[in-house]
Amino acid sequence: MVVAAKTLIRAAADLLYPRNCQFCAQPLAEHEHGVICAACLATVKWIEPPCCSRCALPFVGAVTGKFQCGYCKDLDLHFSHAVAACLARGIVLDSIHHFKYNHRPYFGQHLADWIVTAGREHMDWSGLEAIVPVPLHPRKKREREFNQAEYLADAVGTAFEKPVWKRRLRRVRDTKTQTRLNREERMDNLHDAFAAPDGGALKGCRVVLVDDVFTTGATLDACAKVLRVAGASDVWVLTVARGAYV
Ligand SMILES: [Zn+2]
Ligand SMILES: [Zn+2]
Repeated sequence: MVVAAKTLIRAAADLLYPRNCQFCAQPLAEHEHGVICAACLATVKWIEPPCCSRCALPFVGAVTGKFQCGYCKDLDLHFSHAVAACLARGIVLDSIHHFKYNHRPYFGQHLADWIVTAGREHMDWSGLEAIVPVPLHPRKKREREFNQAEYLADAVGTAFEKPVWKRRLRRVRDTKTQTRLNREERMDNLHDAFAAPDGGALKGCRVVLVDDVFTTGATLDACAKVLRVAGASDVWVLTVARGAYV
């Protein structure tokens, strides 16, 4: 009876938190936390220097020192630096998708691990004051039941002991999905989508904008612009993944 009860409890826990790798189905060892095995985790393409200091795009070839890439050098960006943990492909992109759209919250732990690792390895936090998640429109948040950027911002805020400001940047206009839009269409789509109603609180602050993916950077830039217009003195961007153009 006791064994049966334990088995049942274990089965119930596994439903919430599977103990098989969610990509290759291999059983996970006791010491492997999360839901992805070490072999699948080893396929993650980490973004390491050389990469663009402005938009985090990795560069193939020999570059020494800081540089800005051909993609972003002519863009009028409102954030000063971007850091991304890994390329948005393979299990990283699938993990983000499962977390956001498929009600599989246990992928969140991996996304949080990746973004915190990138923040630790590639950022100097001494002058940065607060974390701002990219907001979802309230209608979308109701549909999805949570904002993945807020979840990630909480993980980053805890890791680096910074406050997370969830109400100082708002999404005031619902926008159509951007998946099929190019950068220019995305910028049009995002026009007046964000606002900082309590702008005074941002004056002179150096903040870190957090989201899951940097694709064209249009959403992050639209947010950064509102933060800068409201008085933020510097905006950094930190994401789990960077669109894989290379
Ligand atoms: Zn696996
Ligand atoms: Zn760049």
